[in-house]
Amino acid sequence: MRNTVKRWSMTAVAAAVLAGVWLPASASDVTVLTAARIHTMDTAQPRVQAMAFDDTGRILALGDAAELRSRYPQAAHLDAGDGTVIPGLIDAHGHVAGLGLAQMRAQLADTASKDEIVQRLREFARELPPGAWLLGRGWDQNDWPEQRFPTAADLDAAFPDRPVWLERIDGHAGWANSAAMEVVERDLTGDWQPDGGRIERDAQGQPTGVFIDSAAALIDSAMPAMDADTAERALELGMRSAVEHGLTGVHDAGVTLSQLRGYQALADRNEMPLRIYALAAGDGDALEWICENGLYAHDDGRLQMRALKLYVDGALGSRGAAMIQDYHDDAGNRGLLLTEPAALAGIVERAQGCGVQVATHAIGDRGNRVVLDAYAQAWPEGSTDHRWRIEHAQILAPQDLPRLAELNVIASMQPTHATSDMPWAEERVGPERIVGAYAWRQLRDSGARLALGSDFPVESVDPRLGLFAAATRTDAEGMPAGGWLPQEKLTAFEALRGFTLDAAYAGFAEDEVGSLEVGKRADFVLLAQDPLAISEQQLRDLTVLATYVDGDEVYRAPRD
Ligand SMILES: [Zn+2]
Repeated sequence: MRNTVKRWSMTAVAAAVLAGVWLPASASDVTVLTAARIHTMDTAQPRVQAMAFDDTGRILALGDAAELRSRYPQAAHLDAGDGTVIPGLIDAHGHVAGLGLAQMRAQLADTASKDEIVQRLREFARELPPGAWLLGRGWDQNDWPEQRFPTAADLDAAFPDRPVWLERIDGHAGWANSAAMEVVERDLTGDWQPDGGRIERDAQGQPTGVFIDSAAALIDSAMPAMDADTAERALELGMRSAVEHGLTGVHDAGVTLSQLRGYQALADRNEMPLRIYALAAGDGDALEWICENGLYAHDDGRLQMRALKLYVDGALGSRGAAMIQDYHDDAGNRGLLLTEPAALAGIVERAQGCGVQVATHAIGDRGNRVVLDAYAQAWPEGSTDHRWRIEHAQILAPQDLPRLAELNVIASMQPTHATSDMPWAEERVGPERIVGAYAWRQLRDSGARLALGSDFPVESVDPRLGLFAAATRTDAEGMPAGGWLPQEKLTAFEALRGFTLDAAYAGFAEDEVGSLEVGKRADFVLLAQDPLAISEQQLRDLTVLATYVDGDEVYRAPRD
């Protein structure tokens, strides 16, 4: 937690930079950090041993340790010894409230069977008041022997009265028991289906308990509303866990106006441990809000909202991703567009008119094409600096791969999605289309910028896993040997760049963060090992010793 209130004025910064000098108010307000190595991610000066920053958290100088200590003789000394310092890691796509709420819900990831799920739920329910909804997340039928969607009946014996509502690992399907379905006012039986979603039904038209994509809203809306304290608590828990993993920034991919209020309250109290770049949830009134109020930045320097998050399709795991041709393993099914092309074009045109950055979730090759078409239409003259993004950009038709670079569209991708999906992704799309899937190398080589992230809590918030997945394309056991579609691997340096400078760029923040340079913020991570010297296989075992934001320690690993 920060112990001092830090503010800086844009004019002071600009004046100092213009004058070519950067002098602190008094020399004792300076800290000189020394380490075995500091990887700056600045090509002009990639590796130094020391960095000086002032008490507002702005970097004053980088260079030789002895030289900086003699230049700032009064400075406090922060000695990282043998450690390695890297710029603070930025997750370009995560869900902070979801991460916090996940810690407040039953954890169902990595369960080997439905029995194990019921077991975990029974334990979790002991702490709940009678009648309260039992919420959980993280189930994945692909992890179970039968590999089929579960049903309400699987939960009803253990929970005949308490509503149970369990989100699938990818967030694109939910599993309800009968008590939860009974609370829904609308009659769920029959053969009707909601737009952009599907109610799984049996032969008699009875819902079986699984609700895909927009259908999940039927159960969500039957749940009692979350109070503001719970919502704020979720943000706090999510941010706390982010800094514990070496993150100094998160692009929160879908923030409602009420969540923004929660962040604002935390920022007003100087309780934001890291920077949040909020992508406003596009299904609410956030676009109108930004259009009316302008791009938003809190004056603590840690909270911004100037982008809009849209969804064009669902996820590959639940076959909700929109494909140009049938799913390879499900003839006749091409997935779902959650937003029709004309509607998407209308929204992005409005966003373009208001100067709002657009970031659209697209998984399937059809979904990605629809988004590229809409972006191309919104920028007929082209623009090099709109920084519009595709979130996931998971499966692209080969002829669409170069379009991201041509249209200056940022590929906001999550390396761990590839390694989580690799056991079944090719089954879904077949051998031809897999060539354009999770195609980091092809995209990067085509000139597109890769902003990397995790999509937590769908995947772990831990960026070490993202670096490891990016550089190896294997699971934790190193399988498949040599990596899955190994031609798409990134180097450790390129992966690090995706989690630092290019993620910063995707949030219009590369002048402030993303690398360690004079005038930028002292956001950095102290590691026990050098990520650019160890083998790729060791990246998942890096030790985060401490995390600093604005030169303040926001996390330090407990000593053992
Ligand atoms: Zn997401």
